[in-house]
Amino acid sequence: MKRRDFLKKAGIGAAAAAAATAVNAPFVHAQKTIQWKMVTTWPPKLPFLQTGAERLAKRVEQMSGGKFKIRVYAAGELVPAFGSFEAVSNGTVQAGSGAAYYWAGKAPASQWFAAVPFGLNADGMAAWFWGGDGLKLWEEVYKPFNLIPRPAGTTGVQMGGWFNKKINTIDDFKGLKMRIPGLGGKVLAKAGGTVVLTPGGEIFTNLERGVIDATEWVGPLHDFIMGFHKVAKYYYYPGWHEPGTVLENFFNKKAYESLPKDYQLMLDIATAETYNWMLAGFNAGNGAALEKLITQHKVNLVRFPEKVMAQLRKLAQDTLEEIAAKDPMSKKVNDNFKKFQKQIGIWGEVSEKAYYDLIAEKYSLKK
Ligand code: CA
Repeated sequence: MKRRDFLKKAGIGAAAAAAATAVNAPFVHAQKTIQWKMVTTWPPKLPFLQTGAERLAKRVEQMSGGKFKIRVYAAGELVPAFGSFEAVSNGTVQAGSGAAYYWAGKAPASQWFAAVPFGLNADGMAAWFWGGDGLKLWEEVYKPFNLIPRPAGTTGVQMGGWFNKKINTIDDFKGLKMRIPGLGGKVLAKAGGTVVLTPGGEIFTNLERGVIDATEWVGPLHDFIMGFHKVAKYYYYPGWHEPGTVLENFFNKKAYESLPKDYQLMLDIATAETYNWMLAGFNAGNGAALEKLITQHKVNLVRFPEKVMAQLRKLAQDTLEEIAAKDPMSKKVNDNFKKFQKQIGIWGEVSEKAYYDLIAEKYSLKK
């Protein structure tokens, strides 16, 4: 007996039949085989960033029963690292993986969705995206480029960097040559430092030869791989310039919207899950690597002086306001971000911060 005939005979109304069809619809669509391409801004095999993009593709394939496949290309394999935004925007490929501050030249407001000096940490960014207006605003910023953004990972709070000169006062930044990209670099320049843009592979040699006095990278796990502890005297914390850097996936709007609804949902779920997976991996890996750096490699861990941080914070606020004054979309995003950070900060004071302070004596760092 055909289903429709059965429903009629069973005396079930048209509305119920329509509802049954709607419920069953995803299973019909899920039969469709789709092949996408994703271009990333990451070197091949880079832990969490490139491997995270590959993991995401695998997740989607698993969820779709092998029907929705995404082939992931590392930087340079299909398009250059910084060509990925354009390639997805114009529909050459359907998906990309990067960090929103890479696109500051195209859309200054994009920087707020990656890392804001003295801004929100990873938890705060997640709260802004999914509990506040963050994701809605990000979609608005990427819309003119035919792109749909999704938060797809975070490094958590980064380290302040490796220095061969001690930072005791704000004046110690004067003339300091440091590899530090993005908004953090703009703040350093305001403090009188010189920003040196060095490709990842050349940082170690530049630091060793004194071409640069300092560099930031990510956190203990990735920094250890780079070997900076062999050529730098001091390892500074915290990473005021990147307090919770968010990685992104971006999808060609037309390609995303032409997907069956359940495939769209798979992408959304896989990116959100990758966000958590990456943060968990970074926190676990950073903890282990930091312990190794301190105990085995006797790294000289130094906290930035409070006064210097307060002065840099003021310079960071000036930097953000200057960008916002020149670009209405940046102003809209900055205003929303500031308001949200203030609100969530009140809660953070009495919850996370109070709790960390409570258990701080258990950490060997406290002297
Ligand atoms: Ca960094």
